[in-house]
Amino acid sequence: MANIRALVAGNWKMNGFNASLEMLDELASGLREGTASTCDVMICPPTTILAAAANQVPGSGILFGGQDCHEAEAGAHTGDISAAMLADAGANAVIVGHSERRADHGETSELVKTKAEAAHRAGLMAIVCVGETEAERRAGDAVKVVSGQLDESLPDKLTASDTVVAYEPVWAIGTGLTPTAEDVAEIHTAIRENLIARFGDDGAAVRILYGGSVKPANAVELMGVANVNGTLVGGASLKAEDFLGIITAYRP
Ligand code: PEP
Repeated sequence: MANIRALVAGNWKMNGFNASLEMLDELASGLREGTASTCDVMICPPTTILAAAANQVPGSGILFGGQDCHEAEAGAHTGDISAAMLADAGANAVIVGHSERRADHGETSELVKTKAEAAHRAGLMAIVCVGETEAERRAGDAVKVVSGQLDESLPDKLTASDTVVAYEPVWAIGTGLTPTAEDVAEIHTAIRENLIARFGDDGAAVRILYGGSVKPANAVELMGVANVNGTLVGGASLKAEDFLGIITAYRP
């Protein structure tokens, strides 16, 4: 199996102002104290403070990402932001297809694919989110739904360094509920098989993150599951102490 460096990415969603950037100083000093080399660490702040965030902790190794991008490079799209603009503001990556975008803005997997392609054109890593609803899981359709989303959301060409897949069961996001380790293993193994079948060696090395109510208390168990190569963290990424507690799950 490929030796995959884990990624712990924090999604601040619509939380955070310039004043919240103090958190980054705490995060950077926590990383300096010993966890820096064990995994990659990323923060995806709101776009209004992305550039300030990217300039706040130079030399810390912290990566930055946007939370969404438009599929076009420029043009008459009021209120939207392009991948190139995110890159210009200091982003290394962008989340596409988060379930909140799929639900709140009716984003389809076809659209998500064009956003991931736009991210690649701008030199950004695309973090492509997939995940089933509670009803789909109850119906026993979780693997089928996630595989279908992957087939339609991923670009036809990708590499292990330009794409990350985040499995985020919709019912686990912000609810405090998490799937069992067995359920996570089942889905992540299915995702890995899907990636290898379509992208070969690159598919074997693409990072697959688990996301949904990850906290310091459950990070060690969830991150120890086969084919879990890191995590996408919402609520617990807002406080440096909690986020560092999750990062520490990767200490050798
Ligand atoms: C998310 O929205 O990506 C997420 C995982 O949120 P939370 O950690 O708060 O469940």
